Order: sequence, then structure tokens, then C-alpha cells
Amino acid sequence: MNKGKYLLLGFLATQLLSVSAQPERRSERLKTSVDETTFRKHVSVLASDEYGGRKPLTPYEQKTIDYIAGEFRNLGLKPANGNSYFQDVPLVDATVKAKGGNFVVKGKKGRTVVRDYDDDIIWTAHKDKKINIKNAEFVFVGFGINAPEYGWNDYDGIDVKDKVVVALVNDPGYYDQSLFDGKQMTYYGRWIYKFEEASRQGAAGVLVVHDDRPATYGWNVVQASWWEHNLELVNDNDNRDLVLFKGWITKAKASELFEKAGYSYDELLKRAQRKDFKSFSLQSKADISFVNNVSVGISHNVAAILPGTDLKDEYVVYTAHWDHFGIGKPVNGDSIYNGASDNASGVSTILTIAKKFAELGVKPRRSILFLSVTAEEAVLLGSQHYVMHPLVPLDKTVAVLNYDGTGPSPATYDVVNHAQNTADKYVRIAAESQGRKYIPVKSNTGYRSDHFSFNRVGVPTIVTRNGGSLVKEGARGRKPGVYHQPSDEYSDDWDVSGTIQNIGLTFSVGWQIANMDEKVEWYPDAPYQRKK
Ligand SMILES: [Zn+2]
Repeated sequence: MNKGKYLLLGFLATQLLSVSAQPERRSERLKTSVDETTFRKHVSVLASDEYGGRKPLTPYEQKTIDYIAGEFRNLGLKPANGNSYFQDVPLVDATVKAKGGNFVVKGKKGRTVVRDYDDDIIWTAHKDKKINIKNAEFVFVGFGINAPEYGWNDYDGIDVKDKVVVALVNDPGYYDQSLFDGKQMTYYGRWIYKFEEASRQGAAGVLVVHDDRPATYGWNVVQASWWEHNLELVNDNDNRDLVLFKGWITKAKASELFEKAGYSYDELLKRAQRKDFKSFSLQSKADISFVNNVSVGISHNVAAILPGTDLKDEYVVYTAHWDHFGIGKPVNGDSIYNGASDNASGVSTILTIAKKFAELGVKPRRSILFLSVTAEEAVLLGSQHYVMHPLVPLDKTVAVLNYDGTGPSPATYDVVNHAQNTADKYVRIAAESQGRKYIPVKSNTGYRSDHFSFNRVGVPTIVTRNGGSLVKEGARGRKPGVYHQPSDEYSDDWDVSGTIQNIGLTFSVGWQIANMDEKVEWYPDAPYQRKK
């Protein structure tokens, strides 16, 4: 079937009727679609060794963003930033030099020797070459949470200015289901939130106590993620308003520190779960000084616009981060972290969708913004920068569709959608037009990719995934164990039948959102709402 007919069928089906196509016919249609060739071409290029794992601020960044911008240009899309496809994203790249994280905490009952790497991992977002903190007092702040909507403020009644706060990982709901959202971790449970809050409270430093289970990963992940090269955004205050250092301390070392202050870890964990918990000084002090191996560089988001017609001042946004970990510690002799699934596949997805829009011959009513962001792996930095400096107004941004790790993925008979806003119905229509079962779920979309940056500022996002009902029994998506490893590589034997389904689905969703009179709105019970 040719492309024109496919598209026409797609539109008629999505807008007029719900057809339950036979799976055979559907897979035939998918096989003959041009999408698969386009998708595979982009992912094989971006995930090749020539792109060096696409680490921000390396020569491979230039190669990567040039490739994406080149594709946008070839498709006839307009630069989204004046006459440029690029948006500058200033980043600090900071590493506390080896052994810099050693310090000794003097408590009532003795000294705790904290050793860099084994016991703690700390770093700074400041640009200063030297960080010097004298005689800083340690304060136990429970979970380190100030959450008015849950009636919870661990910082109530205590001044932590110039002090070092020690906070437990996760949120109280992890231990007591009646608190917060129970086992489903809220953003307040994330270490990144605890760092932000400690800065807002004026603390000198913050240590999050690492515990495998509530953190959901081991100390080795902390070591691998933050000991070297910590990328940070540069904020409007040049980061001077942030804590002087932040990081992690092991549960074992924190327990020792608590004991030397006269408390047991278990006792403090229990106390921190009580609604009437009050933070308090551990009456323990330390000098913390280290050399900051720092450089400042400019990374880039890549953005292009397909202008709409009568509603062209409003935007539907497709996002996917382009960055990955670059060249690092070899595993089985391979040092290039290609990030084929994470996230060459997502970038290829938005390039494939951009091609579908560009070749349509019909313009959508609203404009479409294609946005490939940097430094997602360093915790959503490119998308955070974008929402602080949006290229199109956030209140005119109708909805965001984000892609992270879209392939390989086998075809399924079902689609799962986090149904938190009125785009819900478009996903249902599109899924049913593919003859697939629509499964709305109420659970949160999580914090681990760029949609969250948009959620935080109230822009509705759409996060769908293929369900578990496989068209081909035994078909496989991403191999186990390749996540964030050099083995996340592209291969021609990738099963992308589900990826292609998802491209068709979300292209259709974006098309519908771009053409309907009404905007997308959060449901009243959603955890996020438009900013007034
Ligand atoms: Zn990713």
C-alpha cells in the first residue's frame, strides 16, 4: 500500500470510524510502510561508533546536532530559534577531584571518617575552583521534604542556613502507605528534589542517605553516575544560590555518623515518618574542602517548526533527547556507549514523524515543534533549560509527546496510555483505528524523562507505550542488561514492528491535537495542572 493511501486510511479511521483491521492486514501494511526504512536509517547512523555515544560538550555533540538539524532542513522545517535550529544550553561540568570528598565529622560520641567514593560521592554546581566550608553543623532533616499539598514540612521551624543537611532517600509513603502516595514515589522522594529544596533553604550542603531498596539501585550506580563529570545547568544567578556541595552518603556511614551523635539509624528513620517530626541539629561538625575540576561549556537543543495555518500560534511538541554517555569505562572491551535504544531510537522516531508531517501536503492548523534536547542523562537538563527559556510560549504549547527508548519494540495488540489529560480520547481513537486495545492507566508518568520537565510547568504531556499482548509470540524488545551499557547497540535484526506502530499511533494523536478546536487540558485529578 502506498503512503498516500495509508495516511488517508489513518485519518478516515481516526476521525470517522473505528475499524478493527485484521492483524495480518495490519502487519502487511506496517511492513510496506516507508517508516521502517526511515527509522532504521536514522537510528543506525546516530548509534554508530562514528557518533561516539553522543556525549554533550564533546566533538560528537556537534556531529549529532548537525545531523538532526540537517534532517530538519532537508524536510523543509523552519528553524525554531530565529534563523537557527540550535538553542544554547550553558552547562557546568564539575568533578570533585579524587579524594576531595574525604572529611571527618566530629560528633558528641566521636569522629566519623567519611571517605570519598567508598562512603560518599559529592560534587558542586558552583563554578569556583575551590570549595571551602569551615566547621559546618550537620542537621538531620528527615526526608528533607517541604510539601504543602501533603501537609508536610521537614524544614518547619529550623534554620539550616550554612549547615549541612542529611536527608533520607525516597518519601515517607515508602514506609507508611497512608502517607504521600504510598509506594508510588512522589517527586519529593527523588534525590534531585532534595538537592533543590536544600538550596532553597539556604543550606551549605546536602547529603542524601543511600539505601539500596528505597533508592531502587545499588551504591555502585551512585559511584558510576556521579563520581566523575557531573553536568549542571547554569541558572540565572550563575548557580551562586545553590548549595556548595551535594551528593550521597552510604547508609552504613550515615548510621555511624548518627551513632556518634547519639542516635540509631532505625530510630531516626522511624521518627522521620511521623507527621510531627521536627528536624534537629546532630551537634556534629566538619570542615569540607575540595578542588573542583570545573569547566563551563555550551551544549545545544535542536528545534524546528512546521508552521500551522489558522491556529499557527499554538504548538504541538514532539521531543526526544539526543545525548547519551559517550566514551567511558570499557565493558567487555567496548568503551562506546552507543545509546541505540536510549535514545537514538527516540530521535529517529521524531525524525520519522517529522517526515510524515512534512510530506503530508496538508498543513495542520496548529504548528508542530520538533525538539531534540541535550543532557537528559544528566537529569533532564536540556528540557529543564528549555522550559525556563521556551522558544514558543508555554501557555500556547498545547501538548508534548516525548520519546525515550522507543526501539526495539515488538508489535502488540494493545496500547497503554497514562490517561491524565484530555488527549486520552485521541490516543483511544488512534489505538482503535489500528485495531488495538486501548488501556488507560491512572498511574503517574514518572520523572525519568523529559516529559517531566514539561509536567512541572503544567504543560500537558502524553506518554504511551505498547502493552504486553504480543502479535508474534516470543517477540523481543530491548535485550535485558543493555540499559546504560556499551551493549545498547543497533542491529538490523531489531524488531521494530511495535516502534512503527507507536510512530503511526502518536503521529495520528499529534495530528488530531493539532487540528481540533479544543486544547488539551489536564483532568482535574491529575497531579499537574496548567500554571495560571
Ligand atoms: Zn533516555
